[in-house]
This record gives sequence, structure tokens and C-alpha cells, in this order.
Amino acid sequence: MVSRVIPVEDFDLVIFGGTGDLARRKILPGLFRRFIAEQMPATSRIIGAARADMDRAAYQTLVRDAIAEFGGDEKEDTAGLEVFLAQLDYVAIDAMGDKGWDTLAGMMRDNVVKAFYFSVAPSLFGDLAERLHRFKIATAESRIVVEKPFGRDLESAKALNATLAAHFNEDQIYRIDHYLGKETVQNLMAVRFGNVLFEPLWNNHYVDHIQITVAETVGVGGRGAYYDKSGAMRDMVQNHLMQLLCLIAMEPPSQFGADAVRDEKLKVIRALEPVAPHHIVRGQYDANADGPSYREDASNPKSFTESFVAIKCHIANWRWTGVPFYLRTGKRMKSRVSEITVVFKDLGHSIFGDDGATHRNILSIRLQPNEGMDLQVTIKEPGPGGMRLIDVPLDMTFADALGDDAADVADAYERLIMDVIRGNQTLFMRGDEVEAAWAWTDPLIAGWEARHDVPKTYDAGSNGPEDALLLMHRDNRKWRDIKG
Ligand code: NAD
Repeated sequence: MVSRVIPVEDFDLVIFGGTGDLARRKILPGLFRRFIAEQMPATSRIIGAARADMDRAAYQTLVRDAIAEFGGDEKEDTAGLEVFLAQLDYVAIDAMGDKGWDTLAGMMRDNVVKAFYFSVAPSLFGDLAERLHRFKIATAESRIVVEKPFGRDLESAKALNATLAAHFNEDQIYRIDHYLGKETVQNLMAVRFGNVLFEPLWNNHYVDHIQITVAETVGVGGRGAYYDKSGAMRDMVQNHLMQLLCLIAMEPPSQFGADAVRDEKLKVIRALEPVAPHHIVRGQYDANADGPSYREDASNPKSFTESFVAIKCHIANWRWTGVPFYLRTGKRMKSRVSEITVVFKDLGHSIFGDDGATHRNILSIRLQPNEGMDLQVTIKEPGPGGMRLIDVPLDMTFADALGDDAADVADAYERLIMDVIRGNQTLFMRGDEVEAAWAWTDPLIAGWEARHDVPKTYDAGSNGPEDALLLMHRDNRKWRDIKG
């Protein structure tokens, strides 16, 4: 199978914060991969814009080093790297002052797509947006890309939206949630809406419950002080897990277009019921031989911030009433796994007696590791010995099914940046979605703050606190094993 790469239009992409961690780790290596995949026109340009005083050659060196450190196999293409570096430029700029803006204005070309990646702290978004207009750099067709965190509550998210809306229309604003750029996440939509097999079963008649797990093995380490003001709910649930929940639960949009998809996602968020306190479990990892405790990492011995959260929630609509959605995410857990699991109901009647009744169909969609899906089906155990049933996976690991093509699959950031250039907002969050997500999240956080809820300690390298297991056990269900 030959992968089809469709080149994008000619563009000027300005990366504000072009010397920062995100730019070096993700954005620039990602762009290089798209360049090697021949998706970027040879005339397109990438302009780093950041505070540091450096010239173009120094910036090219910075990017060369970033690709050497964070790039994949494509960095072996040294000739390609030189051509890519020649497309780069740099301007030292002050987001809060006037330095560099005239220079940047002089660098921009007419008649190409203009995109501005705000890879800086959100407190600078307003300054950047205002200056892009004052210096006549942005036009009505220009696009801006903004990063998480998009606010820390409803009020701050509304303020950020208003700041951006003062200078840009909603169809110019691309709010990145890199989970939406993952191949499997889009495949989830292909599987749901491209097959007749699943959609008829995708409701409370056939689905027992749905689990969404995003487990990380890393702790909060170097970013402990920042994380301690946020916690798992704000850092992961309000955005990433919420987006996954939307895609798994939404009604079929009438077409695969930006507003049709986002309208359906918004309806899911708005239909989420408030969560009872005993359906929320928060945790903090303990120290072990491999590392310090959460409180040590956060340098806050009295921290009440959660590094783990598990939630049982419900969606109040015809499709999902009565079907619990169990969400959990945490740091320093057993393995690094992101997975959505749809557990179907037991057979209404088993002709195989008790044995048949204990087997279930389970569809699991893995975002990492080994992106892919598997569907657990029940078959007869081969060989003599009567009718014994076993569960086997119908495995759709992309790397196995698609061979080398799977290795060429664009990483989430690359795909999303190319979508910005193409002007496709389908995989980006709309302002009202972000606000609705905060509107659901805020009362949960306010609730545990008012209760002075103390997170439960859990062993680093485990499945999280005992109470999270109980959240399921009480319902006669259990979490999927977290295995990488
Ligand atoms: P960073 O601190 O490494 O880099 C910040 C960049 O902003 C630097 O290039 C710096 O020169 C520039 N900058 C700061 N003040 C400026 C000013 N006044 N004028 C012009 N430029 C200025 O930050 P980062 O980790 O790259 O994060 C950037 C943004 O992306 C943040 O909003 C962060 O929350 C978000 N984000 C980062 C990651 C990550 O993995 N690093 C992941 C998700 C989201």
C-alpha cells in the first residue's frame, strides 16, 4: 500500500515561542517530518519568533539540534535537513513591546496562507493578537493556533476567548488538543461511522459501560510547581479525556465537517450530568525506590492537588441513559497506556449455559502504545473436549495490518499543523466546547475544594488508589488492566 500525501498550499508559518520546549520537541521536528514526506511546498517558510536575540544562522542551528534530539528516522536524511533549514527564518520579538514587529511584517509574503502558532504562555495571547493587527501582519484569512491550557476555569476560558475574539473570528482560531490529532482517534470516527457493524450496537441497549484510561508512568518532576496549581482534572480530564468522551459518545454528524462534528461534541458535553462526590476519586502518588512522592515533586508538603483522578459519569440523553462512563488518568502509574474501552452487555440468553453467559464482547481502542483496536469475540476453544468457549481478540494493530505505512503515519502535531494550513478545523476545539467543558468541570473542583477533600495516596507504579478500584467493584465491574 502506498501512502497518499497531499501537499498543502504555500504558507508562511510564524512560531511565536519558536525557541521554547514545545517548539523544539514537537512542532519543528514534526514540520521536518512533513517536509520529508513532501507535504510542505519547497517555497513555504517557517519563521521562529521569540525573545532571544539570535540571527537566522543561530536559529537554524537551534532547529538542527532540536531535530537531532527529538526527530525520528527522517533525521538521517541530512541533505533533506539542509533544504528544510534553508526554509527557516528568525526574528527576535517582544510580545509585550514593539521590538521586532516591523521586521516580522516585512518578512511576510502576500498571497500565501499565513498561520501564527502561539507557542507561548496564554498570558501573552492578547498581546500577540493585538500586535498582529496593529502591525498589519494578520489578515482576515490568517489563522492562529493556540495551545493548552485554555484557561483554568470557565471564567478565565471566557476571558481568553474574548481576547482572541477581539481580533480574530472563530473560524481563524485553532485550539490544539493533540489527542484529536492521533491516528486512532480519527479511526474511532471511521470505525463508528464507516461501518454498519458498530453503530446499531452503540447505545444503552447493548453497551454495559465505557472506560477511558490515560495512564502515565512519569511523575510531575520538573514541572511540579506548575502542575500543583492545576492537577489531573484541569490538566487532562477537562480537555483530553473530555474530547475522547465526546468522540465515543456523540451522535453521527450529518457530514465529516468542522462545525457538524463540533456541534455534536458540544451536545455531549452539555448533556453530561453533574457528578456525585462519591463518584470521584482523587489520588497522589507516594514515593518509592524510583522516585519522590507527588508532594515532594510539587515542593508542597501540604498539597491537596490530585495527580490521579477517576470519575464515574453519565450522559443524560436517549442513547446513553443508564450507561456509566468511567474515566481515569494519573501520573506514576504502572504503564503508559491511553485506551478507550467499550464493554458490551452480557448475552440476553446463552445456549451454552453458564459458560456462555460469562463472555463479553469488548472493543478497545488504543491510542498508545501500539495504536490500534481490538475486538474481543467469543469462539469455541479448538480441539476435543466439548463446547468450551474462549475469548480471542480480533486484533487491528495498525503496525501489523498496514506494515510500513503505519510507520509513516503523521504524529498528532504534524497532522494538526497541516490541517491548520489546509484550513480544516474539524480536529480543533471550538470556543463554546471549551467553555462547556469548564462549565461541567468547575463545580466538581469547587465541590472537593469546599469539602477539603484530601487525595488518597497510591503506590507509584500501581493502578492508582484502592478507592478507584472500588468505584468499579461497587458496580460489579472492573477496570481493564493497565498494561503497556
Ligand atoms: P517555554 O518556556 O519553553 O518557551 C516559551 C517561549 O516563549 C520561548 O521561545 C520564549 O522566547 C517565548 N517568549 C516568552 N516571553 C516572550 C515575550 N515577551 N515575547 C516573545 N516571546 C516570548 O514554553 P513551552 O514549554 O514551549 O510552552 C509554550 C506553550 O505551550 C505554553 O502555553 C505551554 O503551556 C504550552 N504547552 C507546552 C507543552 C510542552 O510540552 N512544552 C505541551 C502542551 C502545551
